[in-house]
Amino acid sequence: MAIERWNSREDYTRQENVLLARLRKTRKLFAFLRDHRSEIFDDAFQAELMEMYRDTGAGKDPIPPALLAMGTILQGYHGVSDAEAVELTVVDLRWQMVLDRLGFTEPAFSQGTLFNFRNRLIRTGMDQRLLERTVEIAKLTNAFDWKKLPKTLRVAIDSSPLEGAGRVEDTINLLGHAARNVVVCAAELLGLPMEKVARAAGIPVLLESSVKKALDLEWSAPGSKETAVEILAKQIESLETWLRKKLPEEMTKPPLKEHVDTLEQIKNQDLDPDPSGKGRARIRQGVPAERRVSIKDGEMRHGRKSKTKLFNGYKRHIATDLDTNLIMACAVTPANRPEEEAASALKADIEQQERRIGELFCDRGYIVSPVVSEVIKDGGEVICKPWVARNGKLFTKTDFKINLRDMTITCPAGEIERIDLGADVEFDASACENCPLRAQCTTAGKGHGRTVSIADNERLQQRLRKLTATSRGRDRIRERVAVEHSLAHLGHRQGKKARYCGLRKNLYDVRRAAAIQNLETIQRRLEAIDEIRSVA
Ligand code: SF4
Repeated sequence: MAIERWNSREDYTRQENVLLARLRKTRKLFAFLRDHRSEIFDDAFQAELMEMYRDTGAGKDPIPPALLAMGTILQGYHGVSDAEAVELTVVDLRWQMVLDRLGFTEPAFSQGTLFNFRNRLIRTGMDQRLLERTVEIAKLTNAFDWKKLPKTLRVAIDSSPLEGAGRVEDTINLLGHAARNVVVCAAELLGLPMEKVARAAGIPVLLESSVKKALDLEWSAPGSKETAVEILAKQIESLETWLRKKLPEEMTKPPLKEHVDTLEQIKNQDLDPDPSGKGRARIRQGVPAERRVSIKDGEMRHGRKSKTKLFNGYKRHIATDLDTNLIMACAVTPANRPEEEAASALKADIEQQERRIGELFCDRGYIVSPVVSEVIKDGGEVICKPWVARNGKLFTKTDFKINLRDMTITCPAGEIERIDLGADVEFDASACENCPLRAQCTTAGKGHGRTVSIADNERLQQRLRKLTATSRGRDRIRERVAVEHSLAHLGHRQGKKARYCGLRKNLYDVRRAAAIQNLETIQRRLEAIDEIRSVA
């Protein structure tokens, strides 16, 4: 079936004018979207969206992709589920007006169509194009005086925690949940009740609503956890033996394979053989870096907001243009991954828009990313708070003079040593032993002198230390605050908890929220320009 272009009307009906008069005061994005929908979804962008259907065609719902794209923007703006979004296309005049469907009594699209469209956006990477399109709209609408803006971008990057949508469970519940999924799937394949399969497979702990209830232990008693793990591990072993006998073929293909693999993953990451050597299992000591914490969302991970505050899920990262406040790129990483891993993806998305980073504002989490050296190599500048040197009450690194031209370091007593980037330097042991400042400098044992670590990026660190030494430099570092505000708005829009399971779907959601935020930025900017003009 042919894919239709969205030909929304240009002129305003009387009803639209009445609605717009109200919407220009509150929920202004509705009015902006009605005013600019033809610019956002011009012929060229509609053609790009239609390209998403090149391989598979539109299927049985030939709804214009531009209309569906507008629907996903409204959905993100309202923060509603697919089911509610479908209803709003019938019962909410604002949705109807933006979608050019005032007076329609049938929904603009079905839940399935919206779901499929989202998957198509994700599959083709068009969610990034939707975000880029908002930057293009900022140019088309002359929301900013582009001639006065720097040719290269002044970009600030930052991240915030995004709690995962999956339920986080302890080892016993994870094992029970994963085993239950295996048994339910096996029961479906065999056309038998789940309870019958659980009994036949020798895993009666699944007969109760919760594994802990079925285990019926006094959990505060010493050794109860160990007993629980032992019982559970034995019953899981019995289940696996039964599966190999009854469903050997199905175990190697979806859907059963997926559940069996998850159970195996939980066992491998959370259990260890008991050192007693009696074939028992025990909970593994320590937390593996890639520990799966949820059955529902296999990609979310443990992360840290700070040294003491933990969270489970993802980190959302954004790159904001400091001169327009437009979000240029987004990234999502599992919560356990270091910040620097997102920087390359952000830079790649910016370069995709044929823009170059001239100044990069970031915090220390991103400073070891290759992007930092790439920006410097391309003649750009990196602005970041420098590392704080700490050494208790003893001399810190900043008490030493590092000369990167001569590659030497001079200590407070005037001793000089040669340095290499990325290596520790040790002062002459005999000089330190006889030094009157030794008590203020080092606690090194006999035969050893004071050591100082020279970083790979020592030149950058030195430049950043100089930057913070001046008021102007400190002002420049503070410019990064704009991205923190952007991120706070984005977090408020998305909420603390992820809407979707899995990294890629959450990246889509962050990009959509960023696109909406950009449209609001443009709307506010145009409103301010209009106000200035009306006063002049
Ligand atoms: S203890 Fe060694 S490094 Fe420290 S000031 Fe004295 S000579 Fe220099």
